Amino acid sequence: MNTEGMTYRRLGRTDLQVSEIGFGGEWLERHPREESVELIRYAHNRGINLIDCWMPDPKSRDIIGEGIRECRGEWFVQGHIGSTWQDGQYVRSRDLRSVVPAFEDLLRRIGGGYIDLGMIHYIDSEADWNAAMGTDYIRYVHELHEAGIIRHIGLSTHNPVMARRAVETGFVEMILFSINPAFDMRPATDDLDSLFTGYEGAFSGIDPERSALYRLCEERDVGITVMKGFFGGRLFNEATSPFGTAFTAPQLIHYSLCKPAVASILCGYDTKEQVDAAVAYETSDDAEKDFSGVIASAPLHAYSGQCTYCGHCRPCPANIDIAMVNKFYDLAVQQPAVPESVREHYLALEQTASRCIGCRGCEARCPFGVKIAERMQKAAALFGR
Ligand code: SF4
Ligand code: SF4
Repeated sequence: MNTEGMTYRRLGRTDLQVSEIGFGGEWLERHPREESVELIRYAHNRGINLIDCWMPDPKSRDIIGEGIRECRGEWFVQGHIGSTWQDGQYVRSRDLRSVVPAFEDLLRRIGGGYIDLGMIHYIDSEADWNAAMGTDYIRYVHELHEAGIIRHIGLSTHNPVMARRAVETGFVEMILFSINPAFDMRPATDDLDSLFTGYEGAFSGIDPERSALYRLCEERDVGITVMKGFFGGRLFNEATSPFGTAFTAPQLIHYSLCKPAVASILCGYDTKEQVDAAVAYETSDDAEKDFSGVIASAPLHAYSGQCTYCGHCRPCPANIDIAMVNKFYDLAVQQPAVPESVREHYLALEQTASRCIGCRGCEARCPFGVKIAERMQKAAALFGR
């Protein structure tokens, strides 16, 4: 694996160092097997080391197994428990009569005798939660973990309320969650389809449940991997983007990677060129990654006063990383007392908020009207530096 052109991030308390650009495997089965195997090897040569396999079908699983076989130890596989293949179709199940054979099939086809991230598959509603927790299904997940067959326990969901509940269990070490600027403005729902529709009218800014989730994950050291970061491709086209403006891939990748606790965004690829386009994020400059102008100039924009951690307000004469200070401040004020981990991260910054000279040059550059100088004062007071 050529790691030079890639940034690796720690995936929360799993301590795994995952490539910030990952591989979502669900498009692999729509190509001839050899082509898809080659695509996985190509991605690995570009530094990608994290791949999601939620798919239960034998073809996808075999492709991934073959694609990673020669360097299994360099890959991290996110494999789902409860995604089963019945009569040629995907069925989500908590019934061990189908869950166990489907997981054993995954293990066999992926190879190596273990799965790095054993995912509690797709918990979007109260009913999903109740069907999984406190049942034989979750006992099976723990047994796999205790036996070292899954190295870490994760959970996948599109619903921030379920995600927060999962984080609060204490045993979920990472989550796979859907993040993009459109979803971020929608309230929690257990109906995935509804996240793709109904964007008419004004947005009211980032959904509080989602901000709270990102902060909770950071505080509890639960890493996030991202799915649906491109809103099914709709955000690339101004006609289908709910913002009325098109985004680029580096902007959307950056949007997800700016969120607290996020370690990697999993993109789907059909071609090597698409892998290159995603990995090009690594060499994109700040202007190419900057998504703030797109959101701020959109007719439906309503992020007013909220920091999106976009970094558009740079440079600062005191060399303060304003986005990071804002991120740590937001994390800290959610809690009755400043969490030690947040304080440590804040104090490790090269320049802290107390260096702010109040010039307000940054405020003129912030597209979201954040009162930065005032926040710097508050952050300095809160952290004592
Ligand atoms: S203060 Fe404004 S420009 Fe700076 S990171 Fe936050 S939202 Fe972006
Ligand atoms: S107001 Fe403070 S944070 Fe903003 S540019 Fe000036 S010194 Fe930097």
